[in-house]
Amino acid sequence: MTTRTALLRAFAAAFTESGMEAPEREARALLRGCLGLTDLDLVTRGEQEVAEDDATRLRALAERRAQGEPLARLTGRREFWSLDFALSPETLVPRPETETLVEAALSLFPDRSAPLRLLDLGTGSGALLAALLSEYPAAFGVGVDLAPGAARQARANLAALGFATRAAVLVGHWGEALIGGFDLVVSNPPYIPGTDIPALQREVRTHDPLLALDGGPQGLDAYRALALALPRLLVAGGYAVLELGIGQERQVAGLLTAAGLGVEDPARADLAGIARAMIARKA
Ligand code: GLN
Repeated sequence: MTTRTALLRAFAAAFTESGMEAPEREARALLRGCLGLTDLDLVTRGEQEVAEDDATRLRALAERRAQGEPLARLTGRREFWSLDFALSPETLVPRPETETLVEAALSLFPDRSAPLRLLDLGTGSGALLAALLSEYPAAFGVGVDLAPGAARQARANLAALGFATRAAVLVGHWGEALIGGFDLVVSNPPYIPGTDIPALQREVRTHDPLLALDGGPQGLDAYRALALALPRLLVAGGYAVLELGIGQERQVAGLLTAAGLGVEDPARADLAGIARAMIARKA
């Protein structure tokens, strides 16, 4: 038999050895995520015994974590906008900086009771769409993803969160299957320049789906497709809120302006101060 504290120490030591940046925090996160515990459980009830099969399972997971597998992939879950999402191999792990897009949308549409029509292009786990539906109880949303496994996962997440009757998820290429009529289009498209993929962190490169990352030679392929489609997809006065990769603000603004959209300058920054959410409006 072993205790929570003993496992924490062993994992922190193994993570230190494998060169992880925050070994103790990572060890705590693993126990929390895999045993359903809180930090308080670990601090005040650290001497509690862990059942042998749980300990065996945790040791195997710690081994995979030390090899660079992200915690969200080990637990198969990730929190976004305080909502819980199940992940599949075809969905990106939702990132905290993507919450910048939700905040931008809330500022553009201050009336929470508006019956907005929402569209999330490249919805992945459905994180952005679900976050928006949670804030706009009278809204209806469509999610689109090219990967059938992602669309299935988004559908399941939206249903589990109680949005089944206010959301539809399609498999498709951006907005091609849709005529239009949307008040708000959001997207966190693949934007990493293809040549930068090999240099990404191992956790991202090995465990996030390439389809959700690779934005073509300059990282702008998705924005080109989006810029062409948005004037058709949006109602007059409607907004698009698009996530940006680092340093892409000027080029993406250029593509959207060339498509006849008005672009808010500057883009909204994330908590790290990086220009992250680009806002475009159809006149
Ligand atoms: N934000 C992700 C990363 O930096 C990339 C996601 C994307 O391409 N949209 O790893």
